[in-house]
Amino acid sequence: MRFLHSRIGIATVCALLPCFGTPAQSPAADAGASAPAAYATFVTGATIQPGLIPIITKNGSIYLALKPSQLGADFIETSVPSTGLGGFGPAAGSPYLAPARIFHFDRVGDKVVLRWPNTFAQVNPSTPQAVAARQSLPSSVIDVVAIAATNASDGTIVIPASSFLGDIADYSAAFSQAIDNPLHGYQLDKDRTFFAQTKAFPDNDILRVSQTWASSDPNLIDNVPDPRSIEIGMTYNIVAAPNDGYVPRIADPRVGYFEQVLLDFAHDPTTTRNINYIARWNFAPEHPGRPSNATHPLVFFLSNGIPLQYRDTVREALLTWNKAFVPIGILNAIQVEQQPDDVNWDPEDIRHNMIRWIDTTDPQYGAEALLTVDPRTGEEINVGVNVDAVEGTSKRDYRYVVAPARGLSDNAANENAFEQAYLRSVVLHESGHDLGLQHNFMGSMAYTAKDLQSKAFTDTHGVATSVMEYAPLNVWPKNTPQGDYVQLVLGPYDYHAIKYGYAYVPGAATPEQALPTLRRWASNWNNPLYRFASDEDADFSQGHAIDPRVQMFDLTNDPIAWCGVQLHMLHGLMNSIDTRFPQSGQPYDDARRAFLIQSYMYTTCAKMPADTIGGEYLSRAQAGDPGAGAPLQPVPRSEELRAWHLLATGLFSDAAWHFNPNVLDRLTYSEVSSLTSSGTWTYHSTPRHDISVSQLAADAQEDVLSQLFAPLTLQRIDDLSTKYASGRTMSLADLFGWSSASIFGDITGGGVAHDGVIRRDLQVRFAQRLAKMWVSPVAAASPNPGTPTDAQALARYTLVNLQTDATRALARSGMDEMTRAHLEALVAIVKQALQAKPG
Ligand SMILES: [Zn+2]
Repeated sequence: MRFLHSRIGIATVCALLPCFGTPAQSPAADAGASAPAAYATFVTGATIQPGLIPIITKNGSIYLALKPSQLGADFIETSVPSTGLGGFGPAAGSPYLAPARIFHFDRVGDKVVLRWPNTFAQVNPSTPQAVAARQSLPSSVIDVVAIAATNASDGTIVIPASSFLGDIADYSAAFSQAIDNPLHGYQLDKDRTFFAQTKAFPDNDILRVSQTWASSDPNLIDNVPDPRSIEIGMTYNIVAAPNDGYVPRIADPRVGYFEQVLLDFAHDPTTTRNINYIARWNFAPEHPGRPSNATHPLVFFLSNGIPLQYRDTVREALLTWNKAFVPIGILNAIQVEQQPDDVNWDPEDIRHNMIRWIDTTDPQYGAEALLTVDPRTGEEINVGVNVDAVEGTSKRDYRYVVAPARGLSDNAANENAFEQAYLRSVVLHESGHDLGLQHNFMGSMAYTAKDLQSKAFTDTHGVATSVMEYAPLNVWPKNTPQGDYVQLVLGPYDYHAIKYGYAYVPGAATPEQALPTLRRWASNWNNPLYRFASDEDADFSQGHAIDPRVQMFDLTNDPIAWCGVQLHMLHGLMNSIDTRFPQSGQPYDDARRAFLIQSYMYTTCAKMPADTIGGEYLSRAQAGDPGAGAPLQPVPRSEELRAWHLLATGLFSDAAWHFNPNVLDRLTYSEVSSLTSSGTWTYHSTPRHDISVSQLAADAQEDVLSQLFAPLTLQRIDDLSTKYASGRTMSLADLFGWSSASIFGDITGGGVAHDGVIRRDLQVRFAQRLAKMWVSPVAAASPNPGTPTDAQALARYTLVNLQTDATRALARSGMDEMTRAHLEALVAIVKQALQAKPG
């Protein structure tokens, strides 16, 4: 279920190949003042790897041979770690360590400057703006090296590659950003840093460096043989910058592409200098504007590491994208080939767009799209997908959710069919990223529950409008109709987005000339089939996101109703785990795993209605678009009440967390030794032998309360009254009133004696939260709001009411000891708060 996704980035994940160790060069030798040697003399006895930049190995040192035309020319340089830190910091293949940058070798006398020129400015060369931008925006210099040899006949110069033994990618920053800064103190040890391998291809060079990060503090981490020394593989890729007449395409916020942001100094903009180019492949159709073959198709290669039984599924998923290119007249855009069995054929050749199968210790069926993009234009020069190996989420989902929910058997044929479908949906999604597409978290809002329960419908339209949605499993209760479990086809939004990014715009020779047509194409955002919303729009946790239509892992155009069905189904499954798990011959871990996976899905849905509370519908449509109204519209109060009702019953109630004791007494696990502690799913770090339902409940409840009572959420809800008439949408008083009724309600209702540990715990935590809001409200720290004064007042008001109700309840007779203690504790929390800040 977890798709690792990528923003624009670069990555070339490297197979671990045998290294030939090359000792570090002495920096003193590089910087020697002696005059450059003659090329013919220099290369005597040296090894030369021909390629984009020939690589010379001489006396154990690495040199680069640059042609005169390559001095000052644009290369693209990427830095990607080929090993990880075992759970800390950047993972192997992480494309986020450093951006793809334009790279120059600039000659200055007998030296060469290795430089990242500043490419942020988009200017017409030979205009005054070009001069001004050059003067205004600084470049970055990586190193200055002395020329080691020159070839008088063809002008070739040879420089040492020793600059790449330094920390070019700024890995030290990654160390200090690692969790809780546990790796602080690690320094690159140049004496133990060396070129492990070099490769030269026609369009790129690979310099693979083994770095040693050393520390004198040996107690920092425990997952290396000797914590004083950490070996990190770093792969530098130097790529010829494309020069193929590519015309960039300008992005539009209504259609989701990855973007390359530049500063436009070529025009005189009135609002912003930002110019955003989309990331896309340059297919270069034979006859733009009428059906013709791509002359530069995107050819994927299936790695030889992909098991045979998955190759057809991967291939068919990739080729499915061709369907979106046919309507815009680009034929055979995507092609798929099998990596040849040839040792000289190298996946790291930049011309090879690889689909790789990665073995990890904890396979997730996660996958990651990898893009290398020209930072000047957004043109993709290499893309690929890493698929986490088999045995992952799909098997678990089938065994513990699909099969029990649908009443199916666990036979291998069923399991395999599900697994192939799951793999297909993962590859469709990741290869969509490869085409430049961002996630679309509004993609689940166009279809009805009835649609999703129809196999005929989902076979044609999918379970969402886009493969770029994070769609959860589409599973409905046993004995009800059932569509496809996962997204198997492109949705209408996918066709729409491909048209925006790739269709020929008649008569447009520049990006700007294409804009009127592109804007017209993007103007149908109000049609639910074509809506787009991005990752940022789905960031609800601190109150940023506001539109409940934009969520990950929801389904149908009525997610509240869908969640209601899911909660009922999942609770039923959890409550009857003892009838199915453990299966014969399995340890009780089987039952525990089933419970944890089902409860994870349960809490995901139980928390989701919180995104509707205090929400507003946010439109990306622009003024004048068909059907466009005001971009902000209130979520009706009735809808918020409906969402609250589901929170009250599915999250805050006692019944939500009540399970058959015959289930709870079997959720244990087998003690085994494992290499690391991160191998399995856990919800809590306490190493208990059972599952603490009260802890599961508390975690989920606190997530929701933290979101709803975050200062930003409170301020937004408080401000709703400035935009909308009273009663149209909820108020801050509603939030406190509804919370109080759901959480403390039984104290006023007299049912407190029936409360169990889960409710008592919730009541205490909520009373403490209110007390904190009153006694020590969050101070505003621009631009972040503090706890609004209205919220402080309502917190105090709610506490005073709680004190009255709890005091009245305490006067009743026949109360058990625990209930009395609990009520007295609530009163004490209120008294303490009111004493600390009398108001
Ligand atoms: Zn993704």
